[in-house]
Amino acid sequence: MGVSVYPKPQADQSVSCYLRNLSRRNGFASVALFTQLFFDDSSLVPITLTGEELSKTIGKQQSHLDGLDLLASGEGRQTHTFGRLEIPRYQLCRKERYCPECLQEQETCLSKWQIGWMPLCAKHKRPLHEMTKEIERGLFLGTRILNEEQPTHRGLLLPLNELCEIQSTLQDRLELESADGCCAGESIVDLVDRRLFTSMRLESVDCLSKRRRRYPLQYYDRSIEDSVLFLEYFAGQIAA
Ligand SMILES: [Zn+2]
Repeated sequence: MGVSVYPKPQADQSVSCYLRNLSRRNGFASVALFTQLFFDDSSLVPITLTGEELSKTIGKQQSHLDGLDLLASGEGRQTHTFGRLEIPRYQLCRKERYCPECLQEQETCLSKWQIGWMPLCAKHKRPLHEMTKEIERGLFLGTRILNEEQPTHRGLLLPLNELCEIQSTLQDRLELESADGCCAGESIVDLVDRRLFTSMRLESVDCLSKRRRRYPLQYYDRSIEDSVLFLEYFAGQIAA
């Protein structure tokens, strides 16, 4: 058994969003039923999928999925391709995130929302929300019921405008490197690694991947101080 409808990924679409579309277009009542049947796992985390697995499922060449970012690759699926850039797993969020305002304007969830060090929507100048089952269901059904229960600006130490400006710098750099595959100086991924390594007081950058912890950058509460230091560091590094 295979799928009979195999959409092409939309521009900047996330893997989770693509899976929702694929499941719905093929008549499945939920993504969980789809992944249970094709991957023997109803609670599959889309970010762990490789391009090979996904293309095999839809019975197409991997080139069919061109443009779908953050599919897993590398040893132990610990890296993810974003254009021509390789981003390690621990720099991504495990949970899907979204911008409520973007989803009022468009149906597509973006892959970059998964990148831990870009926790804001630069367009709407607000922190991204963590996906809930309810919101995901709405997206799957196309009803897009988006509640606003999650706090948005809680605990920010820097004005949101300033945070957005810093993140825009990171985002520009990400776009440049993902398109060109190189840049003058250190890669954005290495810069993030080095900052993480310093703030976590690890012995070496290699320890980061060994710990396999999720990216700790948050703009709220306990880790706010680290986050601000982190962003200040980037502002300096990238401006230099
Ligand atoms: Zn937005």
